[in-house]
Amino acid sequence: MPLTKLKGKKFFVMGLGKTGRAAAKFLVEELGCKVTAWDAKPAACEGLPSSVEVKKPSTIDWSEFDGLIKSPGIPESQEDVFSALAAGVKLWSDIDLAQLRAPEATYIAITGTNGKSTTTALIGHLLKSAGLEVEVGGNIGRPALDMPVLDKNGFYVLELSSYQLLSVNTFHANVAVLINISADHMERHRTMEAYIAAKERIFRNQEPSDLRVVGVDNYELEKLAISLGLGVRLRRVSVTGVGAGVTANNEGVMFDYDFTPPKAIYDLSKQMRLPGKHNWQNVVCAWAAVKDFLTIEQFIAGLESFGGLKHRLQRVLDHEGVTFRNDSKATNADATIRALDSVEDIFLLAGGQAKEEGFVPCLEHLQNVKGIYLLGEAEERFAEELKNADVPVKRCGTLKEATTAAYADAQKYAAETGKNPTVLLSPACASWDQFDSFEHRGNVFIEIAYDLCGMGQPPEEEEE
Ligand code: ADP
Repeated sequence: MPLTKLKGKKFFVMGLGKTGRAAAKFLVEELGCKVTAWDAKPAACEGLPSSVEVKKPSTIDWSEFDGLIKSPGIPESQEDVFSALAAGVKLWSDIDLAQLRAPEATYIAITGTNGKSTTTALIGHLLKSAGLEVEVGGNIGRPALDMPVLDKNGFYVLELSSYQLLSVNTFHANVAVLINISADHMERHRTMEAYIAAKERIFRNQEPSDLRVVGVDNYELEKLAISLGLGVRLRRVSVTGVGAGVTANNEGVMFDYDFTPPKAIYDLSKQMRLPGKHNWQNVVCAWAAVKDFLTIEQFIAGLESFGGLKHRLQRVLDHEGVTFRNDSKATNADATIRALDSVEDIFLLAGGQAKEEGFVPCLEHLQNVKGIYLLGEAEERFAEELKNADVPVKRCGTLKEATTAAYADAQKYAAETGKNPTVLLSPACASWDQFDSFEHRGNVFIEIAYDLCGMGQPPEEEEE
């Protein structure tokens, strides 16, 4: 559908975060649409193009409107959305509009329960480092309509959440990647079936010749891969020994079965930016997604120069045999378990605002842990949960105290054993008790690490 069909139409933009604002601006300035908008926070309604009318959705006569763009966080069952849809107003996502604006470019879309941002950033980096023109956006924090317009040589790499996928309408991915699935966001999707159905929308509007990449380690996704049918381009990926087109084995060696005999592409255990089997899954998905555009050599060069994502097992610095890793994004026990299983000789900083499950699920994953340093609101509870664990536990109160104590013990351990221990911030907790966000907590940790090692201020991070 040509974008011109939307010229001058009447749109309602519900929710004025980064995405909604970019959409309102685009509709007004580039399509001459009449836009009405609303956000429950008055401050968010400021600074919009002057022609935008700000009006509460409950006062709207929906019969006057052609289209609705809503923030992905607003559920379809919300009363106003429901009224709009019932009145025949068409739901659009900013992703649809971005593609109509740049229809000739190649679109690589990524979803999954975990690893979306990592895989999206990695794919973007792989293509960029091979010299291609690439824009990375979507759920990763950059609205699709804030990206420049690319022509047929350009690539858009888009992270799409299940919430965003529920609103896509005309969007069509040339390459669609579904990494994995596990129960999440059940308060909104209600059933696993509904959640999978939302994720499955990433394949919507694809032609048989477009590529589908599916992580089939999970039974639900193997079933989904089968349901995509015969005669469509499908690459299965696996890191658990399930028969697939691209795999990584237990030792981390990546194989591509499109070659006869299957070709060993890379030994993932040799790189430190993306440690752990969960990250290997992201890399394998990335290769499956980009292998039509890159040589193996270009892929390896890109993988080796990838900086990793901030706050996700981020390697901060190495000093005199001790490594600091920032996994501040691990705000629940599940994410911390992945870190504990991916790194050796760990001096763990944990605690903050505890989640329902507390630290208990991590107790069976302490084999690599040499010491635990507790902080924040959860300190007492975690200490109690750890009372029978075979690991020394120190109660430290703050991140600064915890990092200082962990670093001192890690240095001693390095000197005694000749090994390379890691001071790991992977708190299994939300950050709100002592910080503004997990990003804030991670940044403070980085500053403390640099300071403890006498390395001054951390360098400005380059975002991928
Ligand atoms: P998302 O964007 O889907 O939230 P991220 O790439 O930001 O995912 O990673 C968030 C956390 O999820 C990481 O710190 C890590 O613990 C975990 N993770 C990353 N990739 C995977 C994966 N493929 N499978 C399971 N967990 C993963």
